Amino acid sequence: MTKIGLEIHCQLTKLESKLFCSCKADYREFEPNTNICPVCMGIPGSLPLLNKSAVEKATLIAMALDCNTPDKIAFFRKNYFYPDLPKNFQITQLNVYGNTSIGWSGKIKVEDKEIRIRRIQLEEDPGRIIYEGATEKTKLTLVDYNRAGTPLVEIVTEPDFETPHQVREFLNILSDLIENLNVSDPGLEGAMRADANVSIEGGSKVEIKNIGSFHDLEKAVHFEITRQESLAERKIEIIQETRHWDDGRKITVSSRTKEEEAEYRYHLEADIPWIRISDNIKNELQTRMPESISSKKERYISKYDITPQVADILASDRYFSELFEKANNEVNAKHIANMITTDIMGLLDTREKRELSKLNAKHLSDLVEYITSNKITRASAKLALDEIIKNGQPLSQVIVDLDLGNVSDESALFEIIIQVLNEETKAVENAKQNPEIINFLVGKVMQKTHGKADPELTLTLLKQNLGIV
Ligand SMILES: [Zn+2]
Repeated sequence: MTKIGLEIHCQLTKLESKLFCSCKADYREFEPNTNICPVCMGIPGSLPLLNKSAVEKATLIAMALDCNTPDKIAFFRKNYFYPDLPKNFQITQLNVYGNTSIGWSGKIKVEDKEIRIRRIQLEEDPGRIIYEGATEKTKLTLVDYNRAGTPLVEIVTEPDFETPHQVREFLNILSDLIENLNVSDPGLEGAMRADANVSIEGGSKVEIKNIGSFHDLEKAVHFEITRQESLAERKIEIIQETRHWDDGRKITVSSRTKEEEAEYRYHLEADIPWIRISDNIKNELQTRMPESISSKKERYISKYDITPQVADILASDRYFSELFEKANNEVNAKHIANMITTDIMGLLDTREKRELSKLNAKHLSDLVEYITSNKITRASAKLALDEIIKNGQPLSQVIVDLDLGNVSDESALFEIIIQVLNEETKAVENAKQNPEIINFLVGKVMQKTHGKADPELTLTLLKQNLGIV
């Protein structure tokens, strides 16, 4: 049986400062090597000070993944030399003196299959190595330490996945869960990274690293399974090794042999004391835990009669579920949910568009209110929505500016209807036998009014004229 396990690294991007110093956790906007200090650069004599908020946010992740959480946590030094690691060791966690990492023995459900979480630990991210030009040919390697020391949560699963598809589903669920906890923004470049271990029946475990996106991870795992199966068929031994995903060629390639765990010479980080996490703190964190995605989904379905599909889409997305909760006033909840999933999600389908959008909850509840009370048509609402997203004006103003108000003046509408009836004589003749034709005539009236005719009034007047009751 194929066995796949994952190691996911998730940055706690919602923190103010790095894990052991006061440099900014949000390193992305800095010029290279300007978001650094003696602590994150490992200057002798500097001392780390643990970020309490990082421990809390990491613990929230552990709790949301049903993990056991420790009474005290300890930090360890993982010693190795690499240019992106200025201290020559990484401060991380290791469960050798009992379970002292942020969490262990958790679980998460993926398509009715339970995936076990082996361990969750808190550690620091190294800096970034930047190669000028292509990796193989470059003569110049640059290092940017702005990221060094930013807080990272490592989530290690048991090898419980059997297919690349399950891996992808798991990562989608995990990334929604982490976004919902408001501890990280998985959409940011490099905020969530994953390595995979793949082994087929009877073969050795192969680790795949350097995978840029979840989409590539699925492809890399798929490629690796195929490669190992092909070796097994030809009776060639599958060696235990680390391979890298070559994004250009879409294959995995063997990397130089990696140090064994023992060679890291882990030892306790003596500059950070063991930290007690009392039951009081754990209880307090439980009260801060946001409603889970599945409970939100159930609530949307039972309370507002929203379809399971719409409820699922809405509840899984933190941005849109917040917009929904703020805009909904119980009566129009279903309409608002539908407007978000059918119109707004398409218009705001990227992080950049969401950040630039001027649409707020009041706009949304007004739009639905105007549609249900026939002040504007759905077609006009779409035009208004485009405009509001761009300039954020109140809906009433946008309707005046774009002249979107419904034609609900009976005499004006009556004249247009007479025009349509005179032009569409054939349809008028058949309308009594075939009631579908009335929709065609409503469409013609809408065309003439540029989608602004009050739909109910139009229907009533048309029926009166045609003598249909
Ligand atoms: Zn620093």
